[in-house]
Amino acid sequence: MNEKVMRNLSYGLFVLTVKDRDGAKDTGCIVNTVTQVTTTPNRITVAVNKGNYTAERILATKKFAVSVLDTSVKFDLFERFGFHSGRDTDKFRDFHSWDTASNGCAFLTAGANGYLCCKVENVLDLGSHYLFIAEVTDGAVLSRNESCTYAYYHANVKPKPQTDAAGQTVWRCTICGYEYKGEELPPDFICPVCKHPASDFEKVGK
Ligand code: FE
Repeated sequence: MNEKVMRNLSYGLFVLTVKDRDGAKDTGCIVNTVTQVTTTPNRITVAVNKGNYTAERILATKKFAVSVLDTSVKFDLFERFGFHSGRDTDKFRDFHSWDTASNGCAFLTAGANGYLCCKVENVLDLGSHYLFIAEVTDGAVLSRNESCTYAYYHANVKPKPQTDAAGQTVWRCTICGYEYKGEELPPDFICPVCKHPASDFEKVGK
C-alpha cells in the first residue's frame, strides 16, 4: 500500500480545550480530528493521542470545548497550543483571546470562527489514541471567516523552510513544524510534539 494516499484525506484544525486539574485553569491542544458523526442528537468524535495531557483531562472531566480555527489564525497560536505539553506549561498564560463557554471550558475569541461545547458520552481505546464520542450541548458562530483546513495551514500559516543560521542540518516535521537539528535523523525518531515518525520529517537545510 502507498501510505501517502492517507495524506489525501482533508481535515480541519481545532483547539480542543478542557479544565486543568484544579478546575480553575484551562489547558488544551491542537487537533485535526473533529468530525460530526450524527445530527440527532448532534454528536462529534475527536481522536486524541494518549500522550497528550488534554486527553487525560477529558477522561477525568468528561467535557471539553472545540474552537474551529479560521484563516485569520496566526502561527503563534499553533506554537502556544501545539508545541508544548499542558502537563508542564500554562498554555493560557498571557493569553487574552478567550472566554468561558456554558460548560465551563474555555473557547477562543480570535483566530476561530466558532466553538462547540461538548459532553463525553463514550470513549473508545484505540491503542495510541482515545476516541471521544461527545454530544454537542451548545455552541456559537464567531465570524464569517473560512475555516482553516490542514492544507491551508501547510500552504499559508506554517513558516517556510529555511537553512539554520549556523549551517547545521535541520529536519522538519511535515506534520507540525517541529525542527530537529543534527546531521542524521535517527530512524526510530518520534516527533515530541505530534508523535509522528521519522518518515514524516523532511530535510530542510544545511
Ligand atoms: Fe510533529
